[in-house]
Amino acid sequence: MFPEPVAEHAGVDDVLPTCVLYSTRNSVSYGNGTYLSTMTLQETQDSLKYSNESANLNQTSTMSTEETLHDLITANHILHHHNVLDAYGHISVRDPTNPSRFFLSYSLAPALISSASDLVEYHISDASPVNSTAKGYSERFIHSEILKQYPNVKSVVHSHSEAVLPYTVSGVPLQAAFHIAGFLGLHYPIHRQQPVNKTQGTNVPIFDTAAHTQRNSRLDLLVSTPLRGAAFADSFSKQDSYTARLGHAATSLVSSLAKSSLASDESPQPDHTVVLMRGHGFTTVGSSIREAVFRAIYTQQNAAVQTTALLTRNAHLNAEDRGKKPEEKTSVPDTGPHYLSEQEISGCTLMGAETAERPWGLWVREVESNPLYVHEQ
Ligand SMILES: [Zn+2]
Repeated sequence: MFPEPVAEHAGVDDVLPTCVLYSTRNSVSYGNGTYLSTMTLQETQDSLKYSNESANLNQTSTMSTEETLHDLITANHILHHHNVLDAYGHISVRDPTNPSRFFLSYSLAPALISSASDLVEYHISDASPVNSTAKGYSERFIHSEILKQYPNVKSVVHSHSEAVLPYTVSGVPLQAAFHIAGFLGLHYPIHRQQPVNKTQGTNVPIFDTAAHTQRNSRLDLLVSTPLRGAAFADSFSKQDSYTARLGHAATSLVSSLAKSSLASDESPQPDHTVVLMRGHGFTTVGSSIREAVFRAIYTQQNAAVQTTALLTRNAHLNAEDRGKKPEEKTSVPDTGPHYLSEQEISGCTLMGAETAERPWGLWVREVESNPLYVHEQ
């Protein structure tokens, strides 16, 4: 006797926009409905802490400095290989032995980073180098200010991804369109009794650098000063959130916590996993390099899927109405694409955290087998 064959499951990009497009709210099957309907976002967050440990995602806290820097170089190559970074963009990691410092490449294209000598250690307090004269990225304040405000964040990715950029300028909100990218809609209510603010929905927020740039300054949309970096870090918190209410008092508190290595589950943490930047790109955070890379790559994939879904839907609606009299048009009700619900976002975020080690292993092999990427041991 042979065992029953197991159905293969695929998440093929060519198919995804269609399932976003045509599923209707009434026909969605939730599978384990009890689980999804009763699980709050706070419970998702609690579960994620466990899931991250079981999936070995939260690598940074248990890794040596040497292992961390090895992952950081590999992560630069992976993000370039997946077009999340080109000559621009960067990824940082908090120093595992000194949480008041972080590592980032000097001003170098990510694909060309090849050894620890290309990496610079910075003070989180002011983004000044600990011991280097190499020219740094002008936007290192993105990293320093986020790491300062949120002690549980261990890694930050900043990208100018071409697939994501339309959602920073078009007025169309970026939303979780498929299961692997459920984290896009995840918000983190600190207090269990505080409901998620429904009015903010599951859209990924957009930060406008111009609104935080002084009139006499060059308007280049770069987050290249501590003030702009602090304002950008604030945008990872909802306006009415616990973190936002703490405001800059939290910043100084976090700085002292970071210096004394006392960052805990009670420390302020971002409400959003990803923030878009108008006319510029996006930034994502993670509790490890691997989680930040996972989120960066699937943010980009989600944008590509959503764009195709929108284009396909628009073409389909136009085709349905073609040749009809005006009063006969709109035979297909335009309810918009069917994005993930809040319950699905909770379940899919957990699922992603539990399986995120699988793509990391593949991505490492991809860059190891590509001669473009040099990684000196
Ligand atoms: Zn940038």
